[in-house]
Amino acid sequence: MHKNKRIYIAGSGGMVGSSIRRELESRGCRSLQTPASSELDLIDQRAVRAFFSEKKPEIVILAAAKVGGILANDTHRAEFLYNNLMIEANVIHEAQGAGVEKLIFLGSSCIYPRNAVQPITEEALLTGVLESTNEPYAIAKIAGVKLCESYFRQYGANFYSVMPTNLYGRNDNFDLDTSHVIPALIRKFHTAKIENRANVTVWGTGKPLREFLYVDDLANAIAFLVENVDARDIYGDGVSHVNIGVGKDIEIGELASLIAQIVGFDGHIVFDTSKPDGTPRKLLDTSRMSRMGWTHTTSLAEGLRKTYDWFLSANPVS
Ligand code: GDP
Repeated sequence: MHKNKRIYIAGSGGMVGSSIRRELESRGCRSLQTPASSELDLIDQRAVRAFFSEKKPEIVILAAAKVGGILANDTHRAEFLYNNLMIEANVIHEAQGAGVEKLIFLGSSCIYPRNAVQPITEEALLTGVLESTNEPYAIAKIAGVKLCESYFRQYGANFYSVMPTNLYGRNDNFDLDTSHVIPALIRKFHTAKIENRANVTVWGTGKPLREFLYVDDLANAIAFLVENVDARDIYGDGVSHVNIGVGKDIEIGELASLIAQIVGFDGHIVFDTSKPDGTPRKLLDTSRMSRMGWTHTTSLAEGLRKTYDWFLSANPVS
């Protein structure tokens, strides 16, 4: 690992950034730069420029983003588009200006067309219409992918993107209005168990299929890429980014039963079909990452157990 490099983790306070921080610390990286969002506002171009000229990061991992679940994406559409565009434009542009040696930008599997052929290969980008519930977020992330690619093509910058599948783990957002499905269901089943409720409501039909990656596995993949893969390897392979996932998906209804079992809730699961299903299926083709030499290690059941344990330790009285 690049133990003495100055590595800036943008978004180090979030679920993904904090996991990357732990991973790099465990690998002996001594010069991590992890300003809190209160110290560095990534929407503010002047502040970002000042940060790069003062701290001179050599490697940048761009894990900062405004993120949320299906409802937050659908209702805060302007914020998801504006904030993410600004963060990406500021960080990627200033990284180029400051001569950063390598930048890895984190996207999301929702950048792919709603009806992409499954499992979704990297080549499916921009081949069809996006899922409407998260279109603004996806458009912003696609802009980030294209920024990295364009800075590589025009300036030779060693910048490229990764597309993780749906993520979960410690430090996730457990707010029921804005969270993704796993933290929402952990909270719902846990509360129902504590309060002896008979039913738990799951949004949608329960039929959509999703793939889930434990966040520490993603952090491990990022460290692998920092160490082993450069932009020319990615673009030279005819794509702009690489998928990171587990190569296996699960129906939301089945996921709900699994979480109920792990949490110890034995009541009924009720589906609220007035809530959106979102995209019917989102399974990544992870063969490119496997060929490069990386695969995930944490099973869904194991990751869910660790996440529930973390939730309990963070909410001891609830
Ligand atoms: P998505 O992958 O962008 O759709 O993100 P989510 O994690 O928010 O939702 C995944 C699927 O889980 C969707 O089909 C949701 O309708 C479904 N789902 C079921 N119950 C919940 C819940 O309580 N919260 C959220 N966020 N999604 C839920």
